[in-house]
Amino acid sequence: MKRALLTVLEIGLLLPVCASIPIHAFIVCDADGSPAVATETVRDHISNLNLVFSQVVMDFELVRLAMITNENWLSISSSNSAQHQALCATAHGTGGIELYYVEEIDDCVAFKTPSGLVVSRDANGLSVAHEVGHLCGLTDIYDDHEGTTLRVTGRSSRNRMPNDYGRPDFSIPHAKRLERLLMYGYQNSSKLAITGGDIYGLGRSVRRNEESGNYELVWDLYNVEVGFWEHGTRTPSCD
Ligand SMILES: [Zn+2]
Repeated sequence: MKRALLTVLEIGLLLPVCASIPIHAFIVCDADGSPAVATETVRDHISNLNLVFSQVVMDFELVRLAMITNENWLSISSSNSAQHQALCATAHGTGGIELYYVEEIDDCVAFKTPSGLVVSRDANGLSVAHEVGHLCGLTDIYDDHEGTTLRVTGRSSRNRMPNDYGRPDFSIPHAKRLERLLMYGYQNSSKLAITGGDIYGLGRSVRRNEESGNYELVWDLYNVEVGFWEHGTRTPSCD
């Protein structure tokens, strides 16, 4: 079996005591040493992560940027757990967040595993921030999805965002508001907002079917767990 080869490019070991959340980033390279993404891309993503999470006063710092030469990991299947577990076993117990940059992922631009985030070159900074939102305990929210006929219609209202304050514009369609949330389930260039409270929308959960005993994905319209005050943690980390 091929072993992952950590090559020399280790940039910056930082302060022993650091209030920021440490980020350890690894870029998969082909046999010729050509990286899946440029190091500048990683730095841009971390800058963007800091910008997004300044909303909840959290800071991140890139403390390691290393190359992994392994052609088997350039293209990742999110359903191939043996493959992404092997990739994400590169670093453990860092006390921070591990990012693994690859060329492509078969059905998304980035995803969370228990041992780190896998990020493709199609991801943007908001994609990475969204996945960090998951590590902070927040879940995906949708306005519609091909897996269900349920969908969000109508305007935004106080009842649909009961624990957020101020005077939001209730004249807009609620689905439009959802598109602006960091935890919106589709990639776009406008999702940014982290709310204090949960927000009404389309969410999914895994439940046990009492008759069959099987676990199944259930879609529902409810106040989805995207609120940082209600469900967020300030200490996200990977195994
Ligand atoms: Zn998500």
